[in-house]
Amino acid sequence: MPELPEVETVRRDLKRHVLGKTIQRVGIVYEKIIRNIAPDDFMVALQGQTISDLKRKGKYLLFMLEGAVLVSHLRMEGKYILKKDEPPAKHEHVIFHFTDGSSLRYHDVRKFGTMDLFQTDDLESIYLMPPLNKVGHDPFDDELTPEMLHERFQKISKPIKTTLLDQRIMSGLGNIYADEVCFLAKIHPETSTKKLSLERVAAVLFHAREVLKKAIALGGTTIKSFSSHEISGRFQNELLVHTKENCPNCRERITKIKVGGRGTYFCERCQRMEK
Ligand SMILES: [Zn+2]
Repeated sequence: MPELPEVETVRRDLKRHVLGKTIQRVGIVYEKIIRNIAPDDFMVALQGQTISDLKRKGKYLLFMLEGAVLVSHLRMEGKYILKKDEPPAKHEHVIFHFTDGSSLRYHDVRKFGTMDLFQTDDLESIYLMPPLNKVGHDPFDDELTPEMLHERFQKISKPIKTTLLDQRIMSGLGNIYADEVCFLAKIHPETSTKKLSLERVAAVLFHAREVLKKAIALGGTTIKSFSSHEISGRFQNELLVHTKENCPNCRERITKIKVGGRGTYFCERCQRMEK
C-alpha cells in the first residue's frame, strides 16, 4: 500500500512529466475505477482539458484541470506510467492520450484504485464531498496543532497504533510509518489513545512530520510499484523498528504483535504503555 511519502513522491514525479499537457481523449478499459460519474461523461468532461497542477490531499492525487479536478487514489498497487501513444498493455485500465502524442496510463493489477471527477475546481467544496470528506489534516497541514490532535485523541479508546492509521483523524500515516512514529515518540502501540498527554501527542505529531519528511526526501519505501518512473525508495534502509530484529536504542529483541489486525513492531523496553 503506498503511503503518504510514496504518493508525494509520485505527485512530484508526475508533476514534472504531465504539467501543461492537454488531454486529447481518454480510453477506459476497466470502468469500475471511475466512481462518481458515468464513464462516458468522464471521457467527455476530460477531453481538451489541460493539467495545470498536481496536488495531494492525504493519499489522494488531485489533477487540477480547468474548472475540474480529477481525484485519484492508488490503493494497493495502482501506478501511473507515461508512454508513447500505443495500444493498452495488460493492467492498464484508464489511458489519458495527450495532444503531444504521449499518454499517461493508470496501471493497477488488483484494480482497487479509484478515480472521481469533480466538475468544479473549488477545493473547499470538493473537500466536503466523498471521498475527500473522510480525509483528515495531514501532519504537514499548518492548521493541525498538537492541541487539536489531543482534543480528537481524548475521544478515542482504541490503541494509538489503530488511531494513527485512521485517515479521518490524521491522514498520511500507513502501517510502516505508524510503527516508526510510535517508536520515536516512545509510546507502546497498544496504549489507549485517550490516555496520551498533550506533551506526548505533540511528540507524535512532531515525529510524524519528521518521519514523513525524511521518507519523502528519500523517495518513500519500496517505491517501484507506485511510481510513474523507476525510483528506488531508500527509506526502507532507514527503518528503525518496522521489520527489524533488534532495537537500535537498547538492542532488545523487537516484538511483533497484531494491533487492529495490522502487523506491528515495537520495543517492549523503550516504548511505554500509559497507565
Ligand atoms: Zn529498545
